Amino acid sequence: MVSTLKMRNPATAELLGEVKEATREDVQKAMTVAQSARSIWEGVLLKERLGYMKRLRENIVDQADELADHIAKDTGKVKLEALMSDIYPTVGMIRYYERKAASILKTKRVPTPMILMGRTSRVEYRPMGVVAVISPWNYPFQLSMVPIVSALIAGNVVLYKPSEISSWTGKVIEGLFSSLALPKGVFQVLQGGKDTGRHLVDSHPDKIFFTGSVATGKKIMQSASEGLIPVELELGGKDPMLVFADADLDRAVNGALWGGYTNAGQTCMAVERVYVESSIYDEFVRRVKEKTETLRMGWTDEADLGSMTSLQQINIVESHLRDAVEKGARILCGGKRINRETLHFQPTVLVNVDHSMRVMQEETFGPVLPIMPFSSEEEAVELANATPYGLNASIWSTDMQKANRIAAKMDSGNVCINDVMVGVANPHLPYGGNKESGVGRYHGPEGLLTFVHPTSVVTHPGKKTREMNWFPYSKEQYEAVLSLIRLFYGSNPVQGLKGLKQIVKEFFRSE
Ligand code: NAD
Repeated sequence: MVSTLKMRNPATAELLGEVKEATREDVQKAMTVAQSARSIWEGVLLKERLGYMKRLRENIVDQADELADHIAKDTGKVKLEALMSDIYPTVGMIRYYERKAASILKTKRVPTPMILMGRTSRVEYRPMGVVAVISPWNYPFQLSMVPIVSALIAGNVVLYKPSEISSWTGKVIEGLFSSLALPKGVFQVLQGGKDTGRHLVDSHPDKIFFTGSVATGKKIMQSASEGLIPVELELGGKDPMLVFADADLDRAVNGALWGGYTNAGQTCMAVERVYVESSIYDEFVRRVKEKTETLRMGWTDEADLGSMTSLQQINIVESHLRDAVEKGARILCGGKRINRETLHFQPTVLVNVDHSMRVMQEETFGPVLPIMPFSSEEEAVELANATPYGLNASIWSTDMQKANRIAAKMDSGNVCINDVMVGVANPHLPYGGNKESGVGRYHGPEGLLTFVHPTSVVTHPGKKTREMNWFPYSKEQYEAVLSLIRLFYGSNPVQGLKGLKQIVKEFFRSE
């Protein structure tokens, strides 16, 4: 049965259109086409692949305003956020790879140890084949485009499944790629929900790049293990912000607001827990509340906060708030939807919180800032690391020595000092999570290396009948190998030198 997905603007409830969900058969057909495109794309020189990506980048910039509009309609976010957090990181990353991919993917000659003398060694970075990219809805453009582009530059073909909640952006991305006229089958879009995602995993791609929730990531890893398919998982977060008494308070307050509320809090690297040194706690809370109440919600260029994107996510936010209040937390401001027609949720400040509450342990993914005091550096570090997540952490202090010391103790893939989330916007930096926040890294050189098989190649001129360790074995051969090991790896190389004659004899032995 053919099923369709209806696409709506969550900030206005306007119907944008509908798309057909890909069935198991559609996925299988796409996989067959992708497999036949694989050798064609692998044969396209890196320079030409980068030429396509340069055109893609220029097209994105030419259409930036229109694209920001589409992304904003699809998600309910304000246009500036679409521009800054979806479009900028994408073009920034393409530009970075245009400049760096040749050196990252270049075959590298590596030394060959003396014990293997006569040979040369190199590493080649070969494409993996068909890469499945499965994306979420919160930054539907950036979190699709960056892995897609990285996989293509590395020489793979891509099957891309957008989130069912942001299919409109999936269509927009399909349009951008069709205007590039890539060879047939190099890039294909499979619209649909969980079932389509499952069919894609079952179609046995050569690599799965998944961004989404921990629960889905675990399911995908489990299914992928059946076929030993390599997976990269970019999952959720519960990011701590540690504010010390010597921090610039205005900057820390503004950082907490943006880090907690941008994209209506639906950011994997959002500030989800704020810990403030006791001596400035009351003042910090007062200022956060005051500034939160000045933020404007809506759907225009003047709004600070757009709507949330899915009703299901609002239900999670509400359940976290209920649980916290039942356990003694106090909502200082916000805490509700602004109406029943759209998905706008008020920015919310929460105090009297502790770690028994879901809002301090599970990903809330909404515009909520729970704030808790701490009294020592050790306690701050302990609280920050006390969740199953490890995506991003921020440390706020003007004492750089202290900030760097604490940053080094964060069990987290990304750390910012006196800043929030910004690491993800620098294409030179690797990005990914520790603990349940994920498996693997992308962006930076890692972002291409995750899509290749580093292949070792050893070359011998081939004009020697045998090697000193080949059959038939002899006592002399044993002595020669022992001398070599002593010579190069022992504490007393002179001992090995005694066997030099034997080494030379065995090295040149032809029978
Ligand atoms: P989700 O896990 O519900 O869905 C993500 C994608 O997986 C969607 O395309 C969905 O259709 C697909 N999917 C669902 N079940 C599947 C299955 N069994 N097999 C294959 N595919 C399946 O996540 P979401 O709600 O779309 O996104 C929000 C989550 O993503 C949050 O937890 C957020 O923290 C996380 N996220 C992480 C990062 C990161 O870079 N670490 C970035 C953004 C979002």
